[in-house]
Amino acid sequence: MGKKSRRNRNKKTGHDAASATAIASAIASATDSATAIAASSAGSGTNQCFHGSTAGKFHPKSEYMKAAKEYVEMLRQEALLDNQDGSKKQQALAIRRIYDEDHMYLIKDPEFCRFVFAFSTKKYLESNNLKDKSRGLVIRALLHLGLFCRYRTTPKELHKYDRDIRTDRGIIKVLVRETKTHCKCMNEGKVIAKTMDINGKCHGCLEEFPKETLSFCDGCQLLKYHNRECQINHWHIHKSDCKRFSESNAKV
Ligand SMILES: [Zn+2]
Ligand SMILES: [Zn+2]
Ligand SMILES: [Zn+2]
Repeated sequence: MGKKSRRNRNKKTGHDAASATAIASAIASATDSATAIAASSAGSGTNQCFHGSTAGKFHPKSEYMKAAKEYVEMLRQEALLDNQDGSKKQQALAIRRIYDEDHMYLIKDPEFCRFVFAFSTKKYLESNNLKDKSRGLVIRALLHLGLFCRYRTTPKELHKYDRDIRTDRGIIKVLVRETKTHCKCMNEGKVIAKTMDINGKCHGCLEEFPKETLSFCDGCQLLKYHNRECQINHWHIHKSDCKRFSESNAKV
């Protein structure tokens, strides 16, 4: 995925100027018809909602869709490294930094941000209220990206919302908030969220507990644990983030 999109981008510089216009118009008409097909087939006759984005952005070959999927894949790979030693974690952070640099023009684009939340909403509506766990993981990854786009300049808010999406209830709340000005697709989810217990997730064992029984990490005051043992066991993973989070908090 990653390699492919980079290759596509490089194509722009590959061909000569004389044929450029012809190729550009061919691509434009191909894209138009592909978008029309995607819109009509995806909707299957009904009024398909794109939750604040557009059919074109949802096309599998759109730049937005490729970037979003590349991000999800990156986090999937990262999760595989998660329980390994610290050097692997550094490696994951380095990969993420490259993604951010490569995609900064999209991360700064409000339309891309809207698309990421719209795509998350689509996945949520397909997930049977998050019962489909594999879709749940994709939604979390997408929201992580969406929140980064939206709040990257305000780290305190970013960490708060990032913490919220560790629970199912938190995920629904973010989706409701991000789509309510565009459509009513999350209305049912909103009702479901209200009936859920107000739980938070322990960062150590990743189980849900009533929020008032979780305690914050002394260092960063951001991550929460359900007991001391979970915090101690998670420290080798959290150590470097903890330092980074406390520093960014101090700056706010
Ligand atoms: Zn909608
Ligand atoms: Zn725990
Ligand atoms: Zn901490």
